[in-house]
Amino acid sequence: MPVSQTIIIGAGLAGLAAALRLSANGHRVTVLEAAPAAGGRCRSFHDPTLDRVIDNGNHLMMTANEAVFDYLTEVGALDRVRIGTPAAYPFIDTVTGQRWTVRPNAGPVPWWVLMRSRSVPGARLRDWLAGRRLLRARPDDTVADCIPDATWLWRRFWEPLSVAALNTAMHEASAQLLAATCRLTFARGERWSRPVTVRDSLAATLIDPAIDRLRSRGVEISFGERVRQLHRDPTGAVTALETSRRSRAIGPDHGVIVAVPSWNLPDLLPDVPVPEGSRMILNLHFSVPGHAGHMPPLTGLTGGIAQWLFCREGLASVTVSAADRFAETPAQALATRIWPEVATALGDRSLPLPEYRVVKERRATFAETPANEARRPGPECQVPNVFLAGDWTVRGLPATIEGAIRSGRLAADQVIDRAM
Ligand SMILES: Cc1cc2nc3c(=O)[nH]c(=O)nc-3n(C[C@H](O)[C@H](O)[C@H](O)COP(=O)(O)OP(=O)(O)OC[C@H]3O[C@@H](n4cnc5c(N)ncnc54)[C@H](O)[C@@H]3O)c2cc1C
Repeated sequence: MPVSQTIIIGAGLAGLAAALRLSANGHRVTVLEAAPAAGGRCRSFHDPTLDRVIDNGNHLMMTANEAVFDYLTEVGALDRVRIGTPAAYPFIDTVTGQRWTVRPNAGPVPWWVLMRSRSVPGARLRDWLAGRRLLRARPDDTVADCIPDATWLWRRFWEPLSVAALNTAMHEASAQLLAATCRLTFARGERWSRPVTVRDSLAATLIDPAIDRLRSRGVEISFGERVRQLHRDPTGAVTALETSRRSRAIGPDHGVIVAVPSWNLPDLLPDVPVPEGSRMILNLHFSVPGHAGHMPPLTGLTGGIAQWLFCREGLASVTVSAADRFAETPAQALATRIWPEVATALGDRSLPLPEYRVVKERRATFAETPANEARRPGPECQVPNVFLAGDWTVRGLPATIEGAIRSGRLAADQVIDRAM
C-alpha cells in the first residue's frame, strides 16, 4: 500500500531521525510527542538550584558513530560537538589517586596495550589476551562469561567500559553487544575511538537543530499530545489514533512509526513482544565554578561508585550506570557519598560539597541481556501499516544515540520502500 503521509509517535532521537529521513525524501510527516518538548531520554532543562541548563544525563558518543555524524551534518550541528583528538581516555582511581590514560593507536593492531604510556598500569599481556574470548562470544554469553573477573583489567578497563556501554551489570550484560561495540571502535583503531561530547547541552546539539530543520521542511510537530490508543481493523491495521487531544484518522495512504521506549509500547500494541525490564542511570551534577576548567571533557573513575566524570565550564557531572541499587537512596546521601570521588578527580579532596542536582533516570535503557537481545524486533512488527523505531529495536547495537538514530532511519526506509 503506497504511503504518502506518516505519523510518528515519539520525538526522541529515533522519531526525529525517522522524520528527517522521510521529510528529506519528500514525505508528509506529523510527529506526536507526549512531553512538552522533544528529546525523550536525551534532553536538557534549566535547573533552578544550579541556575544553568543541564542535561538529564551525560552522553558519550564516539567517532565510530557514523549515523550520529550523518544526523549532525543534516541538522547543521557538526560544530556543536567536541571530539577528543587523538583518542585518549584519562582515568583516575579515586581510592589510590593513581592516574593513567588509555591511548589507542592508529590501525587495527592494538599494540597500545603493550605500552606503559598508553595502557592500563599493571595489566599484563595475558590479561588483555583473555579479552579475545569476548570477540568469539555466543548469543547467550554474558560479559562476565567471557572476561575473567578479579583481574586488574576487569576493574580498571572492562567494567567502566562495559557498564557504561550497556547500562547493565557485567554478569548479566550481553557479551555480543559489548563485542560489537569494541569491533566498531577500539578494534578499528584510534580514528574510530575518539570520544565525542556535546559542547553546550544535548538539546542545543542534538534536539533543537533537528526541530528547526524539520519545521523548515514543513513537518508538523505536536507537543503535549500523548497517543493513548491505536484503533485497529480486523486485519490488525491501525485505522485511527486516540490522542490526549483528539482522534486522528489513519487512511489507507498513511503509515505509522511508533518510536516510543520498549516499556511504553504495550500501551499501544499489546500484542507485540518487547524486551523485558529496564536499568537506571544516575547522574550527579556539581556546580564547580573555577574548578573544572583544567579537566578534560571526560575522565574514567575507578575504585568508587561513579564511573565517568564529564566536565565543562563550571560543571562537573558524574554518571553511575546500572544504578538500580540507588533508586531509593536520597539525593543528599548520594551527593555526600559521591562528591569525594569528584573532588579527588578535580585534584583537591578537601573541596566542600558544592550545590548539586541529582537526576535519577529509572528507566534509562532496556536491560541489555542476551535474552532481551533476542527479543528485539527490528522495524517490522506484523501490524500492516506500523513500523517500530527506538534504541531497543535494532539488534546488534547497544541502546544508544547511534542505535536510536539508526532505528529511526530503518523504520523510515521501510515506509519509503512501501511508497514506491
Ligand atoms: C541518563 C542517560 C544517559 C545516557 N547515556 C548515553 C550515552 O552516554 N551515550 C549514548 O549514546 N546513549 C546514552 N543514553 C541512551 C540514549 O539517551 C537513548 O538511547 C536515546 O535517547 C533513545 O532515544 P529513543 O528515541 O529511542 O527513545 P526516547 O528518547 O525515550 O524517545 C521516545 C519518546 O516517545 C515519547 N512517547 C512515549 N510514549 C508516547 C505516546 N504514547 N505518545 C506520544 N509520545 C510518546 C516520549 O515522551 C519520548 O520523547 C543515555 C540515556 C540516559 C537516560
